Amino acid sequence: MSEFLDQDIKFLPGVGPKRAELLNKELNIKTFGDLFYYFPFKYIDRTKFYKISEIHSQMPYIQVKGEIRNLKTIGPGNKERLSARFFDETGSIELIWFRSVKWQKENLKLNKEYIVFGKPAEFGGNINVVHPEMETEEEKQLNPAGLFQGYYITSENMKKMFLNSKAINKLQLKLIQLAQKKINESLPAGLINRLKLTSLENALISIHKPENTINLKNARFRLKFEELFHIQLKILALKLNREKKFKGFNFEKVGFNFNTFYNDFLPFELTGAQKKVIKEIRRDVNRNIQMNRLLQGDVGSGKTLVALMTMFLAMDNGFQSALMAPTEILAQQHFQSISKFLEGMNIQVGLLTGSTKVSERKTLHEKLKSGELQILIGTHALIEDTVVFKNLGLVVIDEQHRFGVAQRAKLWQKNELVPPHILVMTATPIPRTLAMTVYGDLDVSVIDELPPGRKPIETMHFFENRRNQLNNFLRQQLEKGTQIYVVYPLISESEKIDLKNLEEGFRHISEAFPNTKIGMVHGKMKPVQKENAMRTFKKGETKIMVATTVIEVGVDVPNASVMVIESAERFGLSQLHQLRGRVGRGAAQSFCILMSSYKISTESRKRLSTMVRTNDGFEIAEVDMKLRGPGEIEGTQQSGIGFDLKIANLGKDSDILKLARNEASEIIDTDPLLQNEENKMLRQNLMSAKQKDFDWSSIS
Ligand code: ADP
Ligand code: MG
Repeated sequence: MSEFLDQDIKFLPGVGPKRAELLNKELNIKTFGDLFYYFPFKYIDRTKFYKISEIHSQMPYIQVKGEIRNLKTIGPGNKERLSARFFDETGSIELIWFRSVKWQKENLKLNKEYIVFGKPAEFGGNINVVHPEMETEEEKQLNPAGLFQGYYITSENMKKMFLNSKAINKLQLKLIQLAQKKINESLPAGLINRLKLTSLENALISIHKPENTINLKNARFRLKFEELFHIQLKILALKLNREKKFKGFNFEKVGFNFNTFYNDFLPFELTGAQKKVIKEIRRDVNRNIQMNRLLQGDVGSGKTLVALMTMFLAMDNGFQSALMAPTEILAQQHFQSISKFLEGMNIQVGLLTGSTKVSERKTLHEKLKSGELQILIGTHALIEDTVVFKNLGLVVIDEQHRFGVAQRAKLWQKNELVPPHILVMTATPIPRTLAMTVYGDLDVSVIDELPPGRKPIETMHFFENRRNQLNNFLRQQLEKGTQIYVVYPLISESEKIDLKNLEEGFRHISEAFPNTKIGMVHGKMKPVQKENAMRTFKKGETKIMVATTVIEVGVDVPNASVMVIESAERFGLSQLHQLRGRVGRGAAQSFCILMSSYKISTESRKRLSTMVRTNDGFEIAEVDMKLRGPGEIEGTQQSGIGFDLKIANLGKDSDILKLARNEASEIIDTDPLLQNEENKMLRQNLMSAKQKDFDWSSIS
């Protein structure tokens, strides 16, 4: 950064200590640089003038030329307001001020030409503009705002102190005047030339005061690129840092357990995608560097098996493995399915959750310490300090988004000198480049193929009026021997009310299906009760399972092939997709029925229609990201990377993101420590005060 940009904002003419405090408090603007990087939220075209006769209240903004012919104060005391009648040759409108009435009254002049700018409204058949911006022709000449005027988001507190968008705009124009030739370039010249980027100085000026649309486009491109480039550079540098700092165990051998399982026990052929990913992992764990890999795969794509194959690699090289799941139900299920895969093999697997009995726990602890236990499966209970391994070599984390970075780090510490390899599995697929950004420095593998023979799930959206039809359909399905999930959302803040909704639903279903055994599972139940309910469903004793989203991730009951989602409009897209993934696991045709009320928002409608249209998790993730913005995607909050992007949008700017990734990776490849003269600025930026979390010391 340049000294210019580091100056305290209070020294900018027009700011002073009071406004500086406000800018600081409301927008976190402390320096000239902070203000410069506070970009307009949109632009207003100030080239266009209207005639008063053209104006209607639907217009977002108007700009008219004319004069005030009549000015009067209305109303007593604190309700007082100032009203002006403003004319051009085609008619008149009313201008109104509620604030600083006295000051306006003294300063506004009759019969003098003004340019009026503001938002028109209609009141009793008349058009008015409240708190318009008033400028004389001379004032406009003195302080030209450019063709497009930046519009800035400001808070209520700021508006009260007259720090509205217009005022911010004025400060930006002041800053631009002072900034000429004082802003140092922040990207290497080679890069700028190759990509034909506009200079930082030009970009900062044009983003606030664009001369034309091309000029604005170039500025936006440059600033977006820069923002994403610095993030990518940081991620890659961190990764390099980690690789240098942390040695990794070498799983050299593909040995007895891996081969025996593959040749004699694997009940089906691995899919091509599973094979590809296992190869990627195998390469990772065999190069003396700690693996940090994210495994993305749609629900049902067979991630668990990939995890198990990786555990064999650990085992064959003398290491223990741990698998951590986000919920008790899931941990149990993993335990069961992995135990089943291992039947007939001489491998010891343990299960450790919050409800493991003390005596059992003690035995587990001992077996872990002695190395007798080769695989430990569990919940958060795994990361407690009392859990000590003899030789932990691999940690698999299922459904990453429920674990934070801090928890992951704690797992690393389980093996003090060398951290275990980490494999994170998620069924929330997001585009690869974005994943690398969102999940920090993880490498990414994708299982993009489902095991053969799966029939695509058929999804339908019913409004409330088709409930009878729904019930008839469910009856038919029950007669075929199918099992059914009915899921209710967590609607209110209050758990009590949610439980009431669920219990009411349970009653309705019991009435509609009087001779059918119905189960219920929700988050407020004790673990034992939950497990019982799930077990009777899994065994096929209960036919309908009424549940909240506790069944969202991973639960596997192949005979359940109908998923009914109540109040589906209240679920997020990725959650709907996760829920749907609970069915479609067996041989039967599966169905997902989304029930909703009539009154749903456009966005909800879009979510439901996307669900009906496609089963493709990646496509769904893209839509989700466009609807919600990537900041809302699970996991991003804990990603460890600050996501207060100022101008780039990870959802919309994926091309620029890719470009930034490639350029950053080329620079790190050729000059890993950023020591070349032309890269020094990049190094400085990484080490600057704004990147507090960056510790370069270990590699430089
Ligand atoms: P997820 O990726 O959602 O965790 P799972 O690992 O639970 O998926 O696998 C879903 C189901 O598919 C399981 O019953 C699993 O045994 C089965 N499966 C996994 N791989 C294959 C394969 N290659 N061929 C056939 N079935 C498979
Ligand atoms: Mg799974």
